[in-house]
Amino acid sequence: MYRRDFIACLASAGAGGGFLVSCVGGGQMGLPGGRVAETPPIPARWRDLRIDRSLMIPAGKYARHRPRRLRPRYVTIHATDNFARGAGARAHASGLHRGTHTATYNSLGYLSWHFTIDDRTIYQSLPCDEQGQHADYEGPGNRGSIGVEMCVNRDGDLRRTLDRSARFTAVLMKAYRIPLANVVPHYHWPRTRYKDGKYLGHKACPSVLMTAGRPGPKWEGFVAKIGGYRRQLG
Ligand SMILES: [Zn+2]
Repeated sequence: MYRRDFIACLASAGAGGGFLVSCVGGGQMGLPGGRVAETPPIPARWRDLRIDRSLMIPAGKYARHRPRRLRPRYVTIHATDNFARGAGARAHASGLHRGTHTATYNSLGYLSWHFTIDDRTIYQSLPCDEQGQHADYEGPGNRGSIGVEMCVNRDGDLRRTLDRSARFTAVLMKAYRIPLANVVPHYHWPRTRYKDGKYLGHKACPSVLMTAGRPGPKWEGFVAKIGGYRRQLG
């Protein structure tokens, strides 16, 4: 279902209209009252990781019609498995923004996640203090993690996307005080479908970093890269 939803997304995303309003993420750490920053601050040295918030899911609509608070303790890494040309971050964010990523088997009726990254852009779809529906239905993955989708469109530069995703994950770790041990692949969360209680096991996601369908050397190399970038941030 998850995969089919993405294909549906691709079909509906199209070229998209409107114009982009890019902005550097302006989140703040240590907000009053222990509130969680909606957006992480981007360090000056990595300005290419600027976050575009122009296609956020509208508050109160679609996947945000029933917002639930999130205090992020994990980052969950995904890949879109959408290899079509043009299926970059904007196309996916546009689908979320317009409510086209419907889902039959979760309690919300929509898929949602926080960030989509390609080789040039990062789009935010949900504030980091709201739960998404990207990992495990009503499970702890969705209840406690920020969801990051990496694009694999064939007209993108995957190596660059992976490097940008590693740096951006380091930024999230610092902003929300998340340890490297809590940076996990979607595979980490076993899935029990909400609607009918069917157990689906572990998803081989992010597929581009799995080895024989599960985390192995490629995933471990990616995590090591994230750890190195996190140390650079101090
Ligand atoms: Zn996934």
